[in-house]
Amino acid sequence: MAIIIDGKALAAKWKENIKGQVAALKQHPGLAVILVGNDPASRVYVTSKEKDCSECGIYSEEFAVPAQFGQKALLNLIAELNQRPEIDGILCQLPLPKGYDYDEQEVLLAIDPKKDVDAFHPYNVGRIMIGDYTYLPCTPAGVMAMLDEYGIDPAGKRCVVVGRSNIVGKPQAMLLLHRHGTVTICHSRTPNLGEITREADILVSAVGRRNLITADMVKEGAAVIDVAMNRDENGKLCGDVDFEAVSQKAGWITPVPGGCGPMTRVMLLQNTLAAAVSHGKA
Ligand code: NAP
Repeated sequence: MAIIIDGKALAAKWKENIKGQVAALKQHPGLAVILVGNDPASRVYVTSKEKDCSECGIYSEEFAVPAQFGQKALLNLIAELNQRPEIDGILCQLPLPKGYDYDEQEVLLAIDPKKDVDAFHPYNVGRIMIGDYTYLPCTPAGVMAMLDEYGIDPAGKRCVVVGRSNIVGKPQAMLLLHRHGTVTICHSRTPNLGEITREADILVSAVGRRNLITADMVKEGAAVIDVAMNRDENGKLCGDVDFEAVSQKAGWITPVPGGCGPMTRVMLLQNTLAAAVSHGKA
């Protein structure tokens, strides 16, 4: 039976540590959270991010604007927030509403890279690529923290990342590479996925398809990290991995919920703290 990687407990530990570091600053870190439209899932994410901030002593300010707010007004708001010294980090909750004139790439580019606590700006993405970065890509950094906590060192290991999105798969592969893993990235055009995943000592799945990773696709004793968040037929949260069967074979496994989700949230706090420090608030 695999060791269950407890992301929830680790996130609580990180939060306590961040809280302590925030308390030692000269000024509170400040996070601006922009929510455009009324998508219920985005609302839940924004509320939980604000709750996390208040628990750690981070000031957060919400800008909830209607779906018809418009690209120009959104860019103006970001320009204003870029200038405000009490705001260290700016987060614009994605996706932006469909059916309006929003250009997400332009919005990400408008955020001052020094306040880009999601690490989505191409400047920060480039810095992640070269391994010299201030802002952690939240989900992949959370995965690395869990590996570290459980003594799973990627150096010299076969690492397979399933999914190649800009926010998870690609930066995840890069972080594993920086830690000297031998990394393969798989995606929807990868034939014989199981042949590749079976070679993995560390397998990270970030697809969004329930039961994509079955026990026969996993090497005995592997560390299996399930980033995905799907719903089963009863509306229950689940990942990409067939947890019941894979946990009999893997060495370590993350649950969904309680694995990558809480760690992703904590990395945003870590980035906001790092932003405040880089803005001279230490
Ligand atoms: P995304 O942008 O939709 O990317 C999904 C990736 O999966 C794509 O690269 C796609 O390949 C690949 N893919 C699709 N079907 C596949 C298949 N049959 N075999 C192999 N690869 C396949 O999603 P994302 O934003 O990276 O998120 C991935 C999952 O993680 C989602 O479930 C999301 O909800 C979850 N997530 C969780 C957290 C967290 O905090 N836990 C954070 C972010 C995301 P192509 O590129 O070829 O299309």
